[in-house]
Amino acid sequence: CGIVGYVGSNKTVDVLMGGLRRLEYRGYDSAGIAVIDSRGVLNTAKKAGKLSALVEELKARPINDGQTGIGHTRWATHGAPTNANSHPHLADNGRLALIHNGIIENFAPLKAELIAEGFSFESETDTEVAAVLLGREYQRVGDLAEAFRTIVARLDGAFTLLAVHQDQPGVVVGARRNSPLVIGLGEGENFLGSDVAAFVEYTRRAVAIGQDQIVTITADAVTVTDFDGHSVETEEFDIAWDA
Ligand code: GLU
Repeated sequence: CGIVGYVGSNKTVDVLMGGLRRLEYRGYDSAGIAVIDSRGVLNTAKKAGKLSALVEELKARPINDGQTGIGHTRWATHGAPTNANSHPHLADNGRLALIHNGIIENFAPLKAELIAEGFSFESETDTEVAAVLLGREYQRVGDLAEAFRTIVARLDGAFTLLAVHQDQPGVVVGARRNSPLVIGLGEGENFLGSDVAAFVEYTRRAVAIGQDQIVTITADAVTVTDFDGHSVETEEFDIAWDA
C-alpha cells in the first residue's frame, strides 16, 4: 500500500519509519522494513498491526542500521494480515528483500511452477512469488535491475516492486506497472516512494516513473529504463507542499 526506499548516509531506519508514518493516511494493516547493514548483511523487521507495533518490535529486537533500505505498509489482498504475510518478503537464502503494492493476478500458476522446482514459501501472498522469481533470476544474472527486466515479463496485474540484495549494497531497484512510483532526488542520497509524502521531509525535487519502467537508485545516481533495458528520458518537478 505504502512504499519507501532509501540510499544515503542518513539513519536509514529513521528515514524509512518516517516515510511510512507519512504514508499512514493511505490505510494499512501491517508494516515492515529491510536494511542492508554496514557489514553488508540484510536485516528485516516486520509486524502485523499499526506502525507502533513495528516500533515496539524494533525496540525489542533492534536491527543494524546501514545506508540502503526499503519500507512497506501493507493493505492485504492475498493472505490475512499476519506477521508472515507482511512485507518485505525474502528470497535467495535471505539475501534479497522485496516489497510490493498491488496484485499479481497470475501468482498461482507461477507459485506452482516454483514449488515444482523445489522452492518453498513462507507466506500466502501473491508478493512472495515475485520475490522468489527475482531471487532465482538474480542467481542467474547477478544484477537486480537485469533480473527485474526478466521477471516483469512474467507478471500480470498491477505492481510497484522494490528490492534490495545484500550482494549489491548501496542499490535499491524498483519496477512499476499500473501502480505509482516516484523518485526523490537528494544530495548524496536518493529516495523512492509510492507518493512524494514518503520523502518530502528531505527533498522537494522529484521525478515520476512512467508506466512499465525500472529505476535504480544509488546515493548519487538515478537510472531509469523501460522493461527492455533502454534508457528513458525523465523530467524533474518541484513538489508543492505546505508542511
Ligand atoms: N497483494 C499484496 C499483498 O496482499 C500487496 C498488497 C498491498 O498493496 O499492500 O500482500
